[in-house]
Amino acid sequence: MIYCVEDEKNIRELLVYTLETTGFSAKGFADGRELNAALKKELPVLILLDIMLPGEDGYSILSRLKAAPETRNIPVIMVTAKDAEFDKVKGLETGADDYITKPFGMMEFVARVKAVLRRCTRKEENRELYCGELKVLVGRHEVQIGDKKVELTRKEFELLQYLLENKSLVMSRNQILCHVWGYDFDGETRTVDVHVRTLRQKLGDAGNMVETVRGVGYRIGD
Ligand code: CA
Repeated sequence: MIYCVEDEKNIRELLVYTLETTGFSAKGFADGRELNAALKKELPVLILLDIMLPGEDGYSILSRLKAAPETRNIPVIMVTAKDAEFDKVKGLETGADDYITKPFGMMEFVARVKAVLRRCTRKEENRELYCGELKVLVGRHEVQIGDKKVELTRKEFELLQYLLENKSLVMSRNQILCHVWGYDFDGETRTVDVHVRTLRQKLGDAGNMVETVRGVGYRIGD
């Protein structure tokens, strides 16, 4: 999922449309408030962020994203009409991964998005996720509790990774199903419950960190 924050409706729709026709899923938001609400539900793999926005501007949103542990690792491409050198430096210093100046061609736009995602995949190989004693080495597909290795199936691993990437957020069974099993998976949400049960068993005491939120879904937290 890619989030596009852009207040000009036709540009926002064009960005979302272009990403979707390239095979990404994407959602558009008109300002920082809408983005915040969406971030509480699901974290994207990339955020495209306009600078001149009504209310909170793009720089301020960027600083906030980079300051919060849940959103710190999400790559951000600044999308803006400003092309002064000063702004580029400011954006990149605040932690933006790339910068694209309007007007731009859609081919260039897609190429930039793919390049940033590729760079992040390389970083991904060394990424580690933590929760209490639990440690997940993403690139090595390895789970450790203290210094003990835990063997998980591929789906259990992906389920744990997804919950950890959205640490302390409640993920619904449908969200988990879509993310871990894919949109075209022809299964039931019960599949999720079954895997959560085996995951908890394999994690032993650390399994208690996987919390059931009745009627909604699951959450992991310390
Ligand atoms: Ca704007």
